Amino acid sequence: GIEIRDLHLSFGETRVLTGINLSIKPGEFFAFLGPSGSGKSTLLRAIAGFGPQPRGEILIGGRDIATLPPWKRDVGMVFQSYALWPHMSVRDNVAFGLEERKVPRAEIRTRVDEALALVGLSHLADRMPNQLSGGQQQRIALARTVVIEPKVLLLDEPLSNLDASLRVQMRRELLALQRKLGLTTIFVTHDQEEANTTSDRMAVLDGGVIQQIGTPQELYDRPVNLFVARFLGTAN
Ligand code: ATP
Ligand code: MG
Repeated sequence: GIEIRDLHLSFGETRVLTGINLSIKPGEFFAFLGPSGSGKSTLLRAIAGFGPQPRGEILIGGRDIATLPPWKRDVGMVFQSYALWPHMSVRDNVAFGLEERKVPRAEIRTRVDEALALVGLSHLADRMPNQLSGGQQQRIALARTVVIEPKVLLLDEPLSNLDASLRVQMRRELLALQRKLGLTTIFVTHDQEEANTTSDRMAVLDGGVIQQIGTPQELYDRPVNLFVARFLGTAN
């Protein structure tokens, strides 16, 4: 699991995250829901080790990772734009994180093959990213992240570039994969239905402050304030 204690983050004078406290259980699928600019990406990036150094603690398996470099954090992140390397084949994109971690060549080959099989795209290993559809790029971005066997998977609106029907299909695939690997997952979205249908629990963020944490049912039945009620569409 992952635990976040009293996390604060500013860009210069601008406060973006204030007093974030969070405890996510091993294997839990946790959704972060909030409007544009509420700090969702900033929070994920802080957990992954990108951007300005936050104040507070981030514990994975009881160890504070807040000052470690990204590749030592046991965290994998799929970015809002997939950020595949355009000049590298699919295989090389997926292998990149393992090469960075100095994994032996033979093991890289096996693990990349497994990761591609996991997302059903073994046959596209030699393609370049610009020869893939949006859904295929999304699967490669996922393969590239799970191949490093992270303890925590961070997903920043991974489905937002896809059309509506593909979104629903990919949502199911993503959830199936997450369950199969038992990965502790934080899934960021501004789509409440998506958060609802995927998550064990969710948090609503506004202005860098967590407004409420609970199961989707709890938030719908008992929103703690008008913002949550309005955001989830339960206010009159
Ligand atoms: P969206 O749903 O649009 O992706 P978000 O919830 O992910 O929004 P963030 O990207 O985390 O929002 O941004 C939170 C706030 O921090 C915004 O007000 C944004 O302008 C600000 N911000 C983000 N990155 C920087 C930066 N590098 N420098 C200064 N301010 C930033
Ligand atoms: Mg964002």
